[in-house]
Amino acid sequence: MQTDDRERLSRIRQSLDRLAREIQGLLPVFTDRGPMLKGTVYAQRRKCGKPRCGCASGEPHGTMMLSRSEEGRTTLVAIPDGYLKEWQVLTRRYQSFRRARARLGQIYKTMLSLLDQLEAARRREP
Ligand SMILES: [Zn+2]
Repeated sequence: MQTDDRERLSRIRQSLDRLAREIQGLLPVFTDRGPMLKGTVYAQRRKCGKPRCGCASGEPHGTMMLSRSEEGRTTLVAIPDGYLKEWQVLTRRYQSFRRARARLGQIYKTMLSLLDQLEAARRREP
């Protein structure tokens, strides 16, 4: 085997190692037991329409909402009083779960392509 080839294969093995460690790092996100809530918390700004209300000329009212897409449609849910902090935590947890899941998909795709290269290099014909 050529030196170039050996170096290339050694780089592939190192990449496999690095990716396997990255998966190890993602695992806590997947094995966490905390509940999750799909969606994003945001403030919906609006004027209430009462002519003498402060919002008519100044700051609009802010209602905290949960926005989520279901079957391609975005739905809005008003966050009940006292639940803002908790829902923020739950939605952030969901978002990091989804991010980690997407990353895992990319890692596996990359690993498979690296494995194919190793297989091609090691394979012999009878
Ligand atoms: Zn108002």
